[in-house]
Amino acid sequence: MPEVTPASESSASRRTALAALGAAALLGMAACARGAAEPAPTSPPASESPRASATGRPSASSVPEPLPEPSPSPPARPVFVPDYVLPPVTNGLAPVITRIPTSHPVVFLTIDDGAHRTPEMVALMAEYGYQASIFLSQTFVQADPAYFDQFLAQGSLIENHTVSHNINMVRQLGYSQQLAEIAGMQDFALQHYGRLPTLFRPPGGAYSPAMQQAAAAAGLRAIITWEAKANAGGMDYQVGSSLRPGDIVLMHFRPEFATDLNAFRQAQLAAGLEVVLLEDFLAV
Ligand SMILES: [Zn+2]
Repeated sequence: MPEVTPASESSASRRTALAALGAAALLGMAACARGAAEPAPTSPPASESPRASATGRPSASSVPEPLPEPSPSPPARPVFVPDYVLPPVTNGLAPVITRIPTSHPVVFLTIDDGAHRTPEMVALMAEYGYQASIFLSQTFVQADPAYFDQFLAQGSLIENHTVSHNINMVRQLGYSQQLAEIAGMQDFALQHYGRLPTLFRPPGGAYSPAMQQAAAAAGLRAIITWEAKANAGGMDYQVGSSLRPGDIVLMHFRPEFATDLNAFRQAQLAAGLEVVLLEDFLAV
C-alpha cells in the first residue's frame, strides 16, 4: 500500500498525494492525467512532474524574489483509470451509486443544500485541502450563488440537488415535474458556474425509476446517495464504525459545518484515506 500524504497541507502537497495515488495505481493498473501537460503513466513522481514545475518557480535571477502565490484558478483535474467504471445509463435510467467499490485508499466528500454560508466554511475547506462535490438547490443559493465560486476556486464542483428541494418529490411529483426540477437546476448551475452538473442527489435521498429516468433525460450521469454522514458533529455510518475505501460521505452547509467537517477529518485520517473528488474518480 502506498504512503498517503495527509491532506492537511497545501494544494500542492495534495496534488503530490494524488500523484502518489496515481503512481501506486501503476503497480496494478494504468493511470494517467487529463491534459497534455499532465504526467504520462511512466512519468516520475509529482515533485519532478511537468505539473509541479508548471506551478511556476521563478527562473534564476540575481534578484531574490519571493515565490509567487499559487494560481487562483482551480487545479487541473486528475483523471483516474480506476478499478471501477460507472455503469452507463441503461434503459433510460441513470445508475444509483451509494459507494464506490475500489481498493484505492480514497473517500469522497459531498456537501449539500447551500442554505448556510460563511467565510469560515471556505477557510476550512482550504485549510484541509478538501475538494468536494457540492450538491446545490437553487432555492437555497439563489440569494448569493457567487459565494460558491470560492469553492470552485479550490477545485470543488457544483452538482445538482434540484430547484426547489422537495424532499417528497418521488411521491408528489410526476415524471415531467421531476424533470423540470432537475433540468431547471442544470440551467441554473450552467448559468452561474459555467458547467453542467454530471451528478444528481435527490432531496432527502429517496429515488425512484421515474427519477432515474428524469435524471438521465436531463443529462446527468448518476444519482449519488451516500454511505456515511458527518452530522451533528459526529459520524453516522450505514455499515460498520469507520470509513472504508470508496465511501461517499454526506455533509451539509449548516451552522455546525466546522464540527461536522472536523468529525469527517478525524475519521478520514484514522482510516488512512485520501479525499478525492468523486467526479475525478469517475471521470465525469
Ligand atoms: Zn438536501
